[in-house]
Amino acid sequence: MWLRSTALAVPLLAALGTAGLTACGEANDGRQVNIAVSGDEVTVSGSKITTPTTAAQAVADAQVASAPAAADVAVNDHPAPPDPAPDAAAPGHISLNRLTGNVDPAKDATFAKIPEKYIGGQRTWGQKDAVEAFGRMAEAAAVNGYQLKIVSAFRSFDDQKKIWEDKWTGATLVEKGKLPKTIPDPNKRAKKILEYSSMPGTSRHHWGTDFDLNSLDNKYFNTKDGKRIYDWLVQHAGEFGFCQPYSAKGEGGRASGYEEEKWHWSYKPVASWYLKQYPDDVGYERLKGFLGAETAVGLDVIPNYVQAINPECK
Ligand SMILES: [Zn+2]
Repeated sequence: MWLRSTALAVPLLAALGTAGLTACGEANDGRQVNIAVSGDEVTVSGSKITTPTTAAQAVADAQVASAPAAADVAVNDHPAPPDPAPDAAAPGHISLNRLTGNVDPAKDATFAKIPEKYIGGQRTWGQKDAVEAFGRMAEAAAVNGYQLKIVSAFRSFDDQKKIWEDKWTGATLVEKGKLPKTIPDPNKRAKKILEYSSMPGTSRHHWGTDFDLNSLDNKYFNTKDGKRIYDWLVQHAGEFGFCQPYSAKGEGGRASGYEEEKWHWSYKPVASWYLKQYPDDVGYERLKGFLGAETAVGLDVIPNYVQAINPECK
């Protein structure tokens, strides 16, 4: 199925329900990103991300088929990134406002606008070093025929509050239902939302260091094209400073925290500093001002979610 317009994509998403199409909250936020996935195409906010199924892919496939090392050669030929953001190695004390998303990126010199060609959604800001590193990674991916698009980037406390509360109140359906009806118990309701969406004040998207790429649906990354992109990221993202914080859970994986998100990639040279400082500076008294905030303490969201990430990202 090909969908080109937001108007068409929205009812499709509603029809599909939200079980697999959420995460980071964005997919369930009607004013944010509308994504439809078909075998070979992802539509984001009405703009098309075409994964390389045609000429570029054919070339890349041919390269890979005829010379298995082609992808590696191409990447290694790419100018090596500078030592990951040397100025990020010691950012100094990160303010509480930065840790919890109370910043205006347009007025903050550590943020930069994401170049238009990489944008696949409505979020357009990231930490300067992260944006530059992403550009290097995206160009290397493009050499291999893989198009990386950022469908979500920096989100403020208020952005996250809207995402969270829309799920909390039932304005955004979760697994086809309105949570106040399907899960009246506040703690259980919060846990359901926490499968894929952070409480305001606890999102890595507040930091501007983390980007959601191409699709907010794990199923997409199991399609032929999505899997190729994911496999490329797993193999090469680290060369550019990126890692997948929400890696697989269960045996051999993380024991707690958000569900796996194959689209969410973090620029570790900056994000790791935010993560280190977060539990020292942010207390539960700070996680207030949104519906359901009273559940934060009982669920102990700081160790159980904020810190419960892939050890490789720490
Ligand atoms: Zn995310």
